[in-house]
Amino acid sequence: MMGLNSDKMSNKETTENVKSESQQKPQQQEKKKYYRKRYYNRYKRKVDTQKLSFKKVSVVIPLLNEEESLRPLYIEIKKAVKSINIDYEVIFVDDGSKDKSLENIIQLSKEDKKVKYISFRKNYGKAAALQVGFKDVTGDAVVTMDADLQDDPAEIPNLLKKLSEGFDLVSGWKKKRKDPFVKKYSSKFFNYVTKVMTGIKIHDFNCGLKAYRSEVVQNLSLYGELHRYIPVLADWKGFTVSEIIVKHHPRRYGKTKYGISRFFKGFIDLITVLFTTRYIKRPMHLFGFLGAISFVAGLFVNAYLTFEKLFLGKYIGNRPLLFLGILLIIVGIQFFSIGLIAELIAHQNRDDAEYLIKDKK
Ligand code: UDP
Ligand code: MG
Repeated sequence: MMGLNSDKMSNKETTENVKSESQQKPQQQEKKKYYRKRYYNRYKRKVDTQKLSFKKVSVVIPLLNEEESLRPLYIEIKKAVKSINIDYEVIFVDDGSKDKSLENIIQLSKEDKKVKYISFRKNYGKAAALQVGFKDVTGDAVVTMDADLQDDPAEIPNLLKKLSEGFDLVSGWKKKRKDPFVKKYSSKFFNYVTKVMTGIKIHDFNCGLKAYRSEVVQNLSLYGELHRYIPVLADWKGFTVSEIIVKHHPRRYGKTKYGISRFFKGFIDLITVLFTTRYIKRPMHLFGFLGAISFVAGLFVNAYLTFEKLFLGKYIGNRPLLFLGILLIIVGIQFFSIGLIAELIAHQNRDDAEYLIKDKK
């Protein structure tokens, strides 16, 4: 017995010895791996910023009454693009400013040929400004940012780096938002709902700071206030969307151009975006479905009442259920009719040019 025990002991010891050796080895190996990775990452970072897969970046800036911010913004942008050795252009889109914004932009464009501008006769909104700016870009990468210095131009290299990884759109995520309390939290809620409804897993849909491959902006059509949903619209067209955390600053000059009404308008626009991206080509799938549910429910209600009248001899003329049944049937037919008209419009507007082709031989 003793012998057996001692045998077991020695066995145990040897296995422990082996264990401790084998435990040490992975630790050393991990250390080596860690340092190798650190060195590689550092090296890679250097290479990446020098060898972005883009030749020229177009920075598009929509602005409304931002006269004080424009020069400092331009200086910061220039610094950022110079740091990565990439050709650039800055396109200011003046959205009907009433202050000295346009004068300041004209001055900048006289000093630097890479500064271009477009000036609207009146205020059409940020989406319109972006859309018109997008039509004039000549770079193979496009970056948009707000003009109020809340977005940091120093993020341009990081955005382009992420874009170089193969994404079509990289959106900024203002993780530490420097905005008033109400705006911060209403925006969090807004982003959460949008994320759930659209299934796109980013945190900040309406960040002014975004980078795109030029193909994306050429295929977007922004109007109204749909700039809030650019990632959704791009995703729907088949472009890949990603995000990086970006720095955000409090507003330095002037004031915000949007009040709390943005919140309500934003949600109404969400319905528009969901409808136009999902059902615009097959409206009957939405309206037909809703219509069918309503119609069938009404039919059941009224069938039940008919049964009561015919077989139980009850008086149904004053029953609230009767009105519910009638209402459901009428609403059902209305949904169906709207769906049919929408199908007609979709049929007339069909256009092969809408199908984006990635590759062809
Ligand atoms: N902006 C614009 N047209 C408008 C409203 C705003 O071009 O009708 C510009 C504005 O000058 C700024 C950007 O859009 O460069 C974002 O606006 P703002 O800073 O007021 O929005 P917030 O940061 O409060 O969300
Ligand atoms: Mg702002």
